[in-house]
Formats: sequence, structure tokens, C-alpha cells
Amino acid sequence: MLYGHISSYYSASANSAHSWPFLQGEICTDVCIIGGGYTGLSAALHLQQQGFNTVVLEAERMGWGASGRNGGHVGTGQRAGQETLEKIVGEERAKILWDLGLEAVDTVCGLVDQFEIDCDLKYGDLHVASKPLHATELREEVAMLKQKYGYEQVRYVDRDGLKEMTSSKRFYGGMLNEGARHLHPLNYALGLAKAADELGATLYEQSRVISYSGKDEILINTEAGSVRARYLILACNGYLGNLEPRTAGKIMPINNFMLATEPLGQDLASSLIRNDTSMSDSLFVIDYWKLSGDNRLLFGGGENYSSRFPSDIKGFVRKYMLKIYPELENTRIDYGWGGTLAITLNRMPHIGRLQPNLLYAQGYSGHGVPTATFAGKLIAEALAGTAERFDVMADVPTHTFPGGTLLRWPGLVAGMLYYSLRDRLG
Ligand SMILES: Cc1cc2nc3c(=O)[nH]c(=O)nc-3n(C[C@H](O)[C@H](O)[C@H](O)COP(=O)(O)OP(=O)(O)OC[C@H]3O[C@@H](n4cnc5c(N)ncnc54)[C@H](O)[C@@H]3O)c2cc1C
Repeated sequence: MLYGHISSYYSASANSAHSWPFLQGEICTDVCIIGGGYTGLSAALHLQQQGFNTVVLEAERMGWGASGRNGGHVGTGQRAGQETLEKIVGEERAKILWDLGLEAVDTVCGLVDQFEIDCDLKYGDLHVASKPLHATELREEVAMLKQKYGYEQVRYVDRDGLKEMTSSKRFYGGMLNEGARHLHPLNYALGLAKAADELGATLYEQSRVISYSGKDEILINTEAGSVRARYLILACNGYLGNLEPRTAGKIMPINNFMLATEPLGQDLASSLIRNDTSMSDSLFVIDYWKLSGDNRLLFGGGENYSSRFPSDIKGFVRKYMLKIYPELENTRIDYGWGGTLAITLNRMPHIGRLQPNLLYAQGYSGHGVPTATFAGKLIAEALAGTAERFDVMADVPTHTFPGGTLLRWPGLVAGMLYYSLRDRLG
């Protein structure tokens, strides 16, 4: 297992054991970034390419947060569907957001290619309908994406067609998206860290930021050191805690859980997912799964909204997996783990500025592999003087959770439990 990371299939199969020092004493830089996940590392990498000197301060290890623990699905578009986006921002902006979502996937692929990141990058996603109504909706969505958005890499798969793609008999139809990708999330994050480092970024681990202040120049403090910077980027997402009350009320940290089975034989593995795509279902509390490079099933299902993880994560997730693949009843579960992500009320990321030289990006709502990577790129563009695309994302309205920073939990928990009950009632 990679030292300092949680125990998971990902840390057990991580490529690199490279570590970075903790910050001691006072240093100066152009840009200080708090958080060493996709947002922070992508920002550092792209800022270095734009000629800025950057420092990344990570409280634990690079990729320790959601970026090193997630399902590895690299979805197209935005987390909110296009129809919803059209209602929120109008058709013209919705189209721009769709295109930015496609560019986000291309950005991930481009970085993997350019920096030769070994992270099992593969093609395709099959999103399946858990209820008959959802199948109708998927069919309509496919038609809409083709006709209105000119997106041809997607097709509807009916119930008979699904039999060729998965052994699960639970689903009523599906949307096959050949523009989506999937990957090993921690190896992708570690690859970004290595690339940022090679481009000259200065990375610190075990360096939790405890406070910051200042206008033209910002002073950022850890226990053992400090950074003076012209710009500060907040990239803490679900792990923000109380560091920045002005952005905390816009996001809700929630915990999501995954397991990895033992390696499955080739025949069993390809009966679960015939074409090695990622898969996900259409429930509100979404189940998502894919095969690992060594043919394990990596399955995500179930979430909670407390400060604690379930004591038996493997058992907690396994019950969701068995509903979809009862044939895995006797399959050994080797790893179970959880992570914290941040959601927003409308499922669109919350991106913006708290002051001209203090930017933030958070709340990717389960779509952060492409979107957080892309947010880092947009931050770099904005600091280099081309803020149009950053502003398109920043202009999407976001709402404060009822109860704000302190009292958002009870409302969210009631809401989430209501929807997960609807999942179960059919
Ligand atoms: C179980 C799970 C499954 C998911 N599946 C998918 C998926 O399949 N596809 C998808 O697109 N998205 C998925 N997501 C969401 C995705 O992982 C996140 O949106 C993305 O990783 C966010 O990246 P980030 O860099 O913003 O945040 P993180 O990766 O969480 O990084 C934030 C970092 O900030 C650090 N930090 C916090 N406070 C401080 C401080 N005071 N000082 C210094 N450092 C600090 C933390 O230690 C952490 O490492 C999933 C998330 C989880 C938890």
C-alpha cells in the first residue's frame, strides 16, 4: 500500500511511491494552491506551462482525497443533464457548456498522452436504466444529443441489445457513450503530480493550511511554514472543512463507497462487462462499476452523509453489487474504501473568485475526473489573462444550501433519504 494513503485497490496498485517534503520556513511564489487533487495539480501543471511559479500545499499526500479514491469514470458533458442546463442558462450557454465538457475529456486524454501517465485509460461508458421510465428518458436523451448537439458517439441500446453487453438482467435499456473514458484514478493523480513537478511546480505534502490573509499579497500559513503569493487557489473540494466559510455553504460534503473484488477470470470478467466499458445505473444514489487492469470488479454503491464511514465498507457496498450481479455471491471482496466528494444543489460546479487574486473551484458532484482537471486548466487561463471560459463556468448560478455552512445537514439528509427511498420503491 502507498504510504500515507488509505487502504484501497488503488493504493495497492499505485505506480509511484514518490513523496514530497513538508513546508518549513517562509517562501515566496506567484501562485499558491491549496489541495493536491485533480483541481490543484491540474492548475499547477497548466500554470507552470503559462510561465507562473506555483506551490501546491497538500495536507496529506498527493491524490489522497477523492482524486485517489473515485470510480475513475471520465464522463462527457456536465454532471447536470443538457435539458436541465438549458433551463438554467438557456440553450446557447448550454451548448457552450456541453462543448466544454467534451474538451474536459480531451484534456484528460491529452495529459495522459503528453505526460505518458500509466493509468489504464480505456474507452466507453454504458449507462443503464434501472426503471422502465428511465429507459424512455435515455432513448430521448440519445436522440436529443444527436439532433441538437451533433454528438454522434452515443447510441441507445434496447433490452435485447443489453444482453450482448452485460450478464445483468436488471436493466431496461442503456446509453452507450463511446466518447467517455475510464481510468485508474490514483495513478492519474500521481501522474499529474509528477508532471507538475517536472514542469517546475514546488509540491509539499503533510502541509495543512490553517489560515490565510491579505489582499495584493496573500500570506498562507501551515503549522511549520508560510507562503507569500500573488495569487491563491482553493482546491480542497469535499475536504475544505472550515477553511473558507465563504464557499463552504455552497457545497455539501458526502461520502461515497467502493469495493474491489478478487481478480476474476477473463470469462467471468467479460460476462459482467462485455466490452470493458465503465457502467453506471440511473438510480438517484448511483451505482457505478468497471473492471480494473487485472480484471477485478471495481464497484461503487451507497453513500452516507455523516462524518463517519460504515464500519464494514465491503459488506455495505457488496449488497448493491449483488443486486446487479448475483453470480458474484461467492466472490471474495479484497478491498473496501470510501471517500468524500462535494455536491452542489444544482450539480454544477461552483467556480469563481473571492477577490481578484483568490480563485476557487469545487462541487463537481461526482463528475470531477474530467471537470476538476478542466477547472485547473481554466484557472490557469484566467490568471494568464484569458478569463472568458473560466467566467462561463463561474457564471452558472449556484445556490447556498438551506441552513448555510452550519445547518445544511438536516435538510440534505432528509432530501437524500427521500430520493434513495424512491430508488427502492421503483
Ligand atoms: C468514492 C468516489 C467515487 C467517485 N467517482 C467518480 C467518478 O467515477 N467520476 C468522476 O468524474 N468523479 C467521481 N468522484 C468525484 C471526484 O473524485 C472528485 O470530484 C474529484 O476528485 C475532485 O478533485 P479535487 O482535486 O477538487 O478534490 P480532492 O481530490 O478531494 O482533493 C482535495 C485535496 O485538498 C486537500 N486539502 C483539504 N484541505 C486542505 C488544507 N487546509 N490544506 C492543505 N490541503 C488540504 C485534501 O487533503 C485533498 O487531498 C468520486 C468521488 C468519490 C469519493
